[in-house]
Amino acid sequence: MQLSGNQCVGGEWTAAGEKLFTALNPATCESLLPSFHEATDAEVDRALQLADQAVDALQTLPRETMASFLEEIAIGLETAREVLIARAHAETALPVQRLEAECARTVGHCRSFAQMVRASAWSQPRIDHGNPHRQPVAKPELRTLLVGVGPVVVFGASNFPLAISVAGTDTISAFAARCPVVVKAHPAHPGTCELVAQIIAQSAAKWHLPAGVFSLLQGADNSLGTALVVHPQTSAVAFTGSLRGGRALFDLAVSRPRPIPFYGEMGSANPVFVLPGAAKQQAEAIARGYVQSINMGVGQYCTNPGLLFVTSGADGDRFIAATTECVSQVLPATMLHSVIHSSYVTGLNRIAQTPGIKVVAQSPADGIVDSLQAACTLFTASVDVLDEHPELTEEVFGPESIVFCCQSVDQMIGIARKMDCHLTATIHGTEQDLLEHAELVRILQRKVGRLVFNGFPTGLEPCHALHHGGPYPAATHSYFTSVGQQAIYRFTRPICFQGVPDAALPDEIQERNPLGIDRLVDGKLIPGR
Ligand code: NAP
Repeated sequence: MQLSGNQCVGGEWTAAGEKLFTALNPATCESLLPSFHEATDAEVDRALQLADQAVDALQTLPRETMASFLEEIAIGLETAREVLIARAHAETALPVQRLEAECARTVGHCRSFAQMVRASAWSQPRIDHGNPHRQPVAKPELRTLLVGVGPVVVFGASNFPLAISVAGTDTISAFAARCPVVVKAHPAHPGTCELVAQIIAQSAAKWHLPAGVFSLLQGADNSLGTALVVHPQTSAVAFTGSLRGGRALFDLAVSRPRPIPFYGEMGSANPVFVLPGAAKQQAEAIARGYVQSINMGVGQYCTNPGLLFVTSGADGDRFIAATTECVSQVLPATMLHSVIHSSYVTGLNRIAQTPGIKVVAQSPADGIVDSLQAACTLFTASVDVLDEHPELTEEVFGPESIVFCCQSVDQMIGIARKMDCHLTATIHGTEQDLLEHAELVRILQRKVGRLVFNGFPTGLEPCHALHHGGPYPAATHSYFTSVGQQAIYRFTRPICFQGVPDAALPDEIQERNPLGIDRLVDGKLIPGR
């Protein structure tokens, strides 16, 4: 596979832009070839016009064709695995083993959405039969199903060059809902983006999908993202990235003349609460798991546990001592790019200069061999510091965490009550702890999208039961998940047909149920065949 540095606009590779940029290898700070053309306004417009023209054809495409297209992408990713991983490694410095797992996850979601397309149940058909004889007024016949919303713009994050990028869950679930997709390539891994785009474009051509089903546009600054969000043909946006970027784009999406849904998945500090019984029984084991979780992917996970609360006393001291020991053994590692590295260093300095905060452990400085390497850093403080400095509960993207010591579980509960919302919260507790402090569980339920018990928040299992999101500022819409099969519902909307003759209805809601799918008929769930 060869990189061109061009845009993919509805299956055609174009290079109208005169401005060029290159990717940087974070480990060596050297530019990687080729140079990429930045998309022009005309290319943005053409990608979205073609996407809009593709909507009708996609919505009537046989489900077998759409499922085969998604499976073709999976095959393409598997076939190109080595090339993809080599380029992603050069552009992100993420370890090869981690990228292999990410590639497998990406292949996995292409296949699981293909199955969903075949089963058709995602369209949630609902039928209420009419009754012309009902008194005092006749009851009309109503049939509803979910359909795709139209062209979706996707923004991936720098820390997942495969699973949350060009063929990430956003793109694949939008395809499954019959939506054309325009991806804004991440400027930190443009080569990986182009390779994956080549696979998607070839798969679309093989299955004769309409040209506008997929486009990839490259750009090195905010202007491309802005143009995509405000374009009149954009029907919805899926964004994964920083709170600052997500909020700016959300504001644009809702202030358009025709506001559109914006699904932003953002960063979070993912608090961990260690209750007294758990600290007594397993302070050292929790410390080991916590430090592993802080360091996963050099701390560059949205689910990284940046805050931990433990009660003061002998067991709290044991926990801090064990954590300190583990952190001092972690070697520094290279971060994704210079902006992330410098925000991490700025974040560390800001925390270190906060009155009442102490650095208790850090990776050995002599282990630092390149300029974008980050040291794992552990801070401690009394929880009272949060009264004056609530900003300490904001995400610092990288391998750091703050252990807050509380006088009592009641104080911990008070903090939880005042805390902002996050993607996850974690409780370490014995059964007795959980019974005694059930209030903590109830409070955290209102604050997060996923509550973890006696485990750690990093590492997701993409499946039907996963919810990866949370109330703002974790995400811009707390009802939806960006990972797992339920992600499809962000790109659907109900359409209700009243009094339409059976033959003119979509297959999912025709009376004889030609697809044999589960349906809600007159309020009762009727299983398909
Ligand atoms: P980012 O800097 O926000 O970038 C994400 C994408 O948005 C890029 O394509 C970026 O491109 C674009 N963008 C950002 N701000 C913009 C603006 N104001 N206007 C237009 N476009 C804008 O995030 P990142 O560094 O890639 O990713 C790290 C962050 O993502 C962390 O905070 C992490 O916690 C979060 N994250 C969240 C999840 C989740 O599922 N919740 C998963 C992974 C990562 P340009 O810079 O070219 O504009």
